[in-house]
Amino acid sequence: MRTRPAFGRCDCAGSDRGWEVAGGYTSEASHVRRSPTPDGNSLLGGVAQLCHAFFHCSPTPELSSHPDELCLRVACDPAGRKCETKGVVVVAALRDRAGDLRFLSRYSNCPLSSHAEEYVVRDEELVRAVMEMAPEDDARSSTKTPGSAGTLTLYQRLQPCHGSSDNRGPLWSCSDALVAGLHRELLGPRGVSLRVAVSYTYRAHWDVRGFESERERRWWGPKVEAAREGIRVFAAAAKDGVTLEALNAEDWAFLVSLCDEDVARDYAAAFGEGGEGFGSKGCGVFTAPAVAHRRAMDEFVAEQIRRHSASGPTNGRATNAAG
Ligand SMILES: [Zn+2]
Ligand SMILES: [Zn+2]
Ligand SMILES: [Zn+2]
Repeated sequence: MRTRPAFGRCDCAGSDRGWEVAGGYTSEASHVRRSPTPDGNSLLGGVAQLCHAFFHCSPTPELSSHPDELCLRVACDPAGRKCETKGVVVVAALRDRAGDLRFLSRYSNCPLSSHAEEYVVRDEELVRAVMEMAPEDDARSSTKTPGSAGTLTLYQRLQPCHGSSDNRGPLWSCSDALVAGLHRELLGPRGVSLRVAVSYTYRAHWDVRGFESERERRWWGPKVEAAREGIRVFAAAAKDGVTLEALNAEDWAFLVSLCDEDVARDYAAAFGEGGEGFGSKGCGVFTAPAVAHRRAMDEFVAEQIRRHSASGPTNGRATNAAG
């Protein structure tokens, strides 16, 4: 497994990312919140935290039906502030082959110079839970079918970075850390598959042809291509039990079930089956337009991942031609 990153000082005071700290946590481990929670409150908090962690849609000109920003925080914040959209939250859920939850934790990156996935990879409690669920002796005895022992699902707002993050530099890849590190060395040999489910794509969907200047296109083009290459890191490991997907309805229902009760109730009213109750009857943040926007984004993200999983590696025009 990769060398553990060095973590610097916490810099999240007063921000969305400082939520756990405000809950009374004081150490570096403040940014790992476990279930059951020590304060007895929900794992994911209220609407503002749900938006910060998953629901928020950045302006996306490439999604022609819903190009504008979508933020639930504005409607529920007393000062009308929107999400700062800094930082990534990862919820890790380890389930056994019967689908029963064996481990559940929430990680967020603070300081921003580290990535939330790094907290996942180095979390000894997660490693222990995997080992308990799928013991090593068992793993040695035979070649494991992917998923035969269970699945680790990582729910996150953005797909893992790959040589393109602004704060970890061009050599760092959370995609490699998860696929070549966590999965190949710990999960795969134990028959545990890895599923990463995201609510938005980090740069991979950008169409640089729409950028204003040739200078911008030249600057951003390679970064967009690196993000797409990261998607292909997951696609190449599909046969070993690794998947990268957009969040689906079941994923959303699960994440919302980890929020405060009023959020879960409002969400069920807005997103419930059958269409009746379309639009929230509760605090009003899950409006019909918000529901439609989020659904369109989930489809867009799924399509982006499909398209860039299939496109050829680093062969200039191949990426644009695909899809
Ligand atoms: Zn912090
Ligand atoms: Zn938001
Ligand atoms: Zn990363």
